[in-house]
Amino acid sequence: MSFAPQALIDRAALHHNLRRVRQAAPTSRIWAVIKANGYGHGMERVAQALTDADGFAVARIDEAVRLRAAGIDKPLLVLEGVFDAEALRAAAAHQVAVTVHQTQQLELLEQTLLAHPIEVWLKVDSGMHRLGFRPEAVAAVAQRLQQTPALGVLHLMTHLANADAPQDPANQDQCVRFDAIDTTPFAQLSIANSAGLLAFPECQRDWVRPGIMLYGVSPFSEGSGEPLGLKPVMRFSAPVIAVNRYETGEAVGYGGSYRCPEPMPVAVIGVGYGDGYPRHVPGGTPVLLRGRRLPLVGRVSMDMICVDARELPDLQPGEPALLWGPGLPVEEIARRAGTIPYELLCGITGRVGFVEVNSEEGRDGAG
Ligand SMILES: *Cc1c(COP(=O)(O)O)cnc(C)c1O
Repeated sequence: MSFAPQALIDRAALHHNLRRVRQAAPTSRIWAVIKANGYGHGMERVAQALTDADGFAVARIDEAVRLRAAGIDKPLLVLEGVFDAEALRAAAAHQVAVTVHQTQQLELLEQTLLAHPIEVWLKVDSGMHRLGFRPEAVAAVAQRLQQTPALGVLHLMTHLANADAPQDPANQDQCVRFDAIDTTPFAQLSIANSAGLLAFPECQRDWVRPGIMLYGVSPFSEGSGEPLGLKPVMRFSAPVIAVNRYETGEAVGYGGSYRCPEPMPVAVIGVGYGDGYPRHVPGGTPVLLRGRRLPLVGRVSMDMICVDARELPDLQPGEPALLWGPGLPVEEIARRAGTIPYELLCGITGRVGFVEVNSEEGRDGAG
């Protein structure tokens, strides 16, 4: 029995969620977005599992190089592009497509001699105002790129700022600005992340770029993945390490923010913010034990949390508590922590043990 927190990664759920993307965007190709260590699930692990993706998108060149080193031979795209000649040569050598979103990147491409031509996704800022050329600059940038010997194929992409809130008219504004661009210089187009491809099918175009939904998590600011037909990929759990009894009025943990209203058992679970469990969740945040939601009491420590065990007074050390996963959506914990599920998933730290499982095989095995 392991007394360390564990993240179980379910390959069957990953496959299921990719199929869900295909169903939602049947005529588009899929960049599976696996930046930030596959949203905390393990980048190489996710890439090796998602054999049906059309390609993988990451944020930085070193992530793409790691994927090639792991034997991934699918198309790769670096969403932030490269910033020096060495990185550009690495991208070309590894046949990695790069985004070009600002003038220095354009000049780098013009000035660097490459052994192989490189595929480029020109990024246009259709209204997010983070990365990208203004729409009125696109034609001139495309022309310069096409005169660059280093250029292989040229594509066009943009990114939606408000797709998590589909009713926001800013989404339509961005699509209108994108559609006003003359796309004849470009082989392929891409607009939509998870929220965009689900909420705006008209934005799916040649490639969609889902990230969060592959991990079974809703991309929208409300609700969870299950009603969208998604299955959580990560099951984050940790063991009970002690069950103690306290008297009426005794305070639990740092700062004594919780006082026992009556004599009661308190279970200590061996997980804390040092593992990536969010420190800012309030008392009452649920933890699943034997399928029941027990409320957190007191503050989250670095290595431990405490829960009110009055509903399960016979709990024993070693019993596993689910922190998020099937039956307890990470979306709910994120909302209580005042953040988004992306941050919680990316925030799992190096001391959590990762285990790969396949829930479909498990079910077969169980008959
Ligand atoms: C991270 C990212 C995505 C994926 O977004 P999700 O909300 O996780 O689906 C898509 N496109 C770009 C440019 C990104 O940076």
